[in-house]
Order: sequence, then C-alpha cells, then structure tokens
Amino acid sequence: TTREFKHHVVMFPFMAQGHIIPFLELAKLLAKRTGFAITIANTPLNIRSLRPEIDSTGAGLDIRLAELPFSTAGHGLPPQTENTDFLPYNLFFPFLQASEQLEPHFERLICRICQEDGGRLPLCIISDMAFGWTLDVGNRLGIPRIQFCTAGAYGTSVYYSLWTHLPHNQTHADDFVLPDMPHVTLQRSQLPTNIKMATGSDPWSLFMNRQISRNVRSWGSICNTFEQLEHSSLQHMRKSTGRPVWAVGPILPSSLLSSSPSNTKLDSDFLLRGKQTEAKSARACLQWLDSQAPSTVLYVSFGSQNSISLSNMKALALGLESSQQPFIWVVRPPVEAPLNSELSAEFLSDGFEERVKEKKLGLLIRKWAPQLLILSHPSTGGFLSHCGWNSVLESLSQGIPIIGWPMAGDQFTNSKVLEEEMEVCIEMWRGKEGELKPETVERTVRMVMKEEKGNRLRQRAAEIREAALKAVSEDKNGEKKGSSVCAVDDMIRELTVGYQC
Ligand code: UDP
Repeated sequence: TTREFKHHVVMFPFMAQGHIIPFLELAKLLAKRTGFAITIANTPLNIRSLRPEIDSTGAGLDIRLAELPFSTAGHGLPPQTENTDFLPYNLFFPFLQASEQLEPHFERLICRICQEDGGRLPLCIISDMAFGWTLDVGNRLGIPRIQFCTAGAYGTSVYYSLWTHLPHNQTHADDFVLPDMPHVTLQRSQLPTNIKMATGSDPWSLFMNRQISRNVRSWGSICNTFEQLEHSSLQHMRKSTGRPVWAVGPILPSSLLSSSPSNTKLDSDFLLRGKQTEAKSARACLQWLDSQAPSTVLYVSFGSQNSISLSNMKALALGLESSQQPFIWVVRPPVEAPLNSELSAEFLSDGFEERVKEKKLGLLIRKWAPQLLILSHPSTGGFLSHCGWNSVLESLSQGIPIIGWPMAGDQFTNSKVLEEEMEVCIEMWRGKEGELKPETVERTVRMVMKEEKGNRLRQRAAEIREAALKAVSEDKNGEKKGSSVCAVDDMIRELTVGYQC
C-alpha cells in the first residue's frame, strides 16, 4: 500500500534545554498548522526525555523522534555526556567539537527518511545555529536548510558580528563599536569569556567560523521573536544575509499565550518541560505562591547551563533576605563545586535556608523549577534572570519585568537591549566574576519590586505581552492573523512552492 503523501520536516536542536525546548514548541506549532510529519533528531538520552512530552502535549500530532549515536570518546568528557546542561565551562567546547561528528549519522538518517517516504526528500532541514554543517548535508542531498535562531534577532546579530570580527583581545577601550553594526556600542565587560579570549585562529574561533559562515548562507532563518519587538534587528539580519528571516515567535506553549492563562493549572506543559521537574516540587511551588500577595514574589533563576560563584551566591542570599521581598530561588551548587555535587547548606550563608523558611520569606528549589508555572502565577512580580532568551520571552509573555544578571553568550546583549531599548529590565550584575555586594542585590530588588521605577518596567512588560499575544493571534473570529502566524505561513508557502518531488 502506498502511504498518503505528506511533507516531512527534519528538525535538529543542539543538545541543551534552552535549544531543545523551543525546537519542540516549534515542531508542535508546525505540525499543528500544516499536518506535516516532523522528525526531531537528537542523541538517545535527549530523545528519551522528549518522548513523554511528545506523548502528552504533542498527542495527535505527527511528531517522530530519531536517535543519533553520539560518542564523546577522545574529547575528555565524562561518559554519557549527551547534553550541556550544567556542564562545567571547560567541557563546553570539547562537547561542541564532539557534536560535529554527528554529521554522517545525520546524513544517514535523512537518507533513511527519504527511503521510507518512497524516495521523496524531506521538505527541509530546520537545525540549530550550532549545527551550521547541516547546510552541507542539505546541499549534498538537495534539501533546503533553515537555521533556527533560539536567541533573539539582536542577540544573534551581535553574536555573529563579534565572532566574525576577531580578535577583540586588543580591545582595551571600555566602549567599542562593531564595524557592521555601528549603532551598537559595547563594553568589554559585555563580551562573553570565549569571545574575549578568541584570536581568530584558535579552535573555538575556527569552530564558530565554520558554523556561522554556513548559517548565513542557509536557505533562510527562523527567529524566536516577533516583528514588533525586534523589527530593526530582523531587518539587519535580512540585509546582511540576503535571505528571508521569519520571525515566528514567541514560540511558547499555547497556555502561556492565551489572554486568560490557566494560572493555577498543573498541566503537562508546565510539569514535563525539562523532565527534571517533579510533580511534588511543582505542587510545593504552587502552594507557596498561592499564599503570597499578587505581584510580590521575585523568581530567581539562571537557566539550565549557568551557576554563580560561591561568594556571589552568599551575597545574593544575604541581599534577598534583607530586601524582605518574598522569593523563589532555583539554587544550584556554585561554579567551584565538583561536578555532580549536591547543593549543601554551606554554599549559602549560615542558617539562611532555615531563616527564610521560618519567616515564610523564601522558597528554595533545588536544580530544576517549573519555570512556566512560576512565571504565570499572579503572585510573581519580577524575575532575576541570566537573560537567556527563552527566559526573557517567558517573562515578557507574562508581563514580568527582569533584573538582569547576564553571564555568557548572547545574555549580555539581551540584558542590554532589554534595559536600553525595551525598558523592561535593570541590569544588576554582569558576569560570573567580581564581588557582588548584598546591598546591590537589596537595592535593585527593592527598586524593581517596590518602587516607581519598577512600576514603569512592569507597564512596559505588559505592553510587550499584549504585542506578543497579537503577533501569535490566529485568523479567527474575523480578526487578522498576527505577524508571527503570517511568517509561518509565508515560510511554508515558499518551501512547498519550490518543492521538487
Ligand atoms: N527552565 C526550567 N526550569 C529551570 C531552569 C530552566 O523550566 O529550573 C527552562 C526555562 O523555562 C527555559 C529554558 O529552561 O525555557 C532555559 O532557557 P534559557 O534560554 O532561558 O537559558 P539557558 O538555559 O539556555 O541558558
């Protein structure tokens, strides 16, 4: 029997939660809108943790999972390292290098899919910014490759520009301007460590060059952002690549994007994400949040990759305590702690955990929090964040202002644009180094949570939430569809018109 003809899209995220999560949401969005078959490729461990989520929130959609063998042998990585979540900084680059060995396996997968589809090529490859080499696979097989930027358009453009104008280690001046983005002035302290050290010919520079040069030559780019939020940066990307850039975001679970979010619902969107969240810790969060007044709780989290230093951890603890503002803090062992260590009380200031528990001032969550549940709860009023792009979108989609503490990658420029242009953020601290003072934490928390400045930020965040809802609104009830929905439809049209059987 011949199977019904169905277009097939192959997606391939980098092995980190901040990439896998938006790829999965994009897969659901495309499957829902088009009815196409989607295959998500990844390493066995990540595929195993995706499966329950596909079975629940992806039920009824044709989303398939494909395992690619991944060997880190010879790269100095602990055995079974299949993603970069909480990987120590010095192991991150070896992991990136190992990821390039996925190329033949990925190519074989595509050939197998093609065979199973009766010789029809997949419609396109949508792959990570870290996998520029998937363009070569696409070119060899005659399949368009699209890069999916899980960072914002501003963050991506500046990041690419920094890597293409190396070195910056000569840059002693505090302020400097990028040659191809003269409107962007950066400070040296806003350079991620790897870029600060890059010479242009070291292995990390060469790796980035291999990926970026292919990313910008790809068939097009999908960005997890929306026109109204980042129009000028999107235009910059379009001009500099000469290729289409579709702003289809914010790509978030639909429950976060409805005009009346189901705030207290413990549904699977909230629970299964990132697999580590247990129902027990989600219930504890919910109970605690329910006992607090509206918009009073500060949520503190640095994403899935970063920890802070021991001294900064103690300062943060003391500052939060003296701010007297209720908080939920996702605590992890400091950067100095050995790999896989548990969080112990000695990492915090003496008796901190007991004191804040007793005063009902704070809730500490270990390792992994139900972030969407927390951000969408009416008691949450601020987010002290490392400014990872997913966290940024999740926060703004709930109208929640941000206290910025960027640490790596695009986070520095995210924090910058959030503060200077979007006016929804105050940057509190920058980088993992230096001695943060508890008073700095206390002052900034009060400013954002209690003072007039905070109200202005909250107002702006609420406006951005409205704009985000508009961007993703469907064409129903006679309403015009939003810019992000149009972008998805445009992309599909362009792909299917050019499709050759
Ligand atoms: N996340 C979560 N619980 C945590 C930490 C992170 O659910 O305890 C989710 C968060 O909601 C976001 C993603 O993991 O979707 C982190 O992505 P982001 O871009 O914010 O930061 P990264 O982890 O890539 O640095």
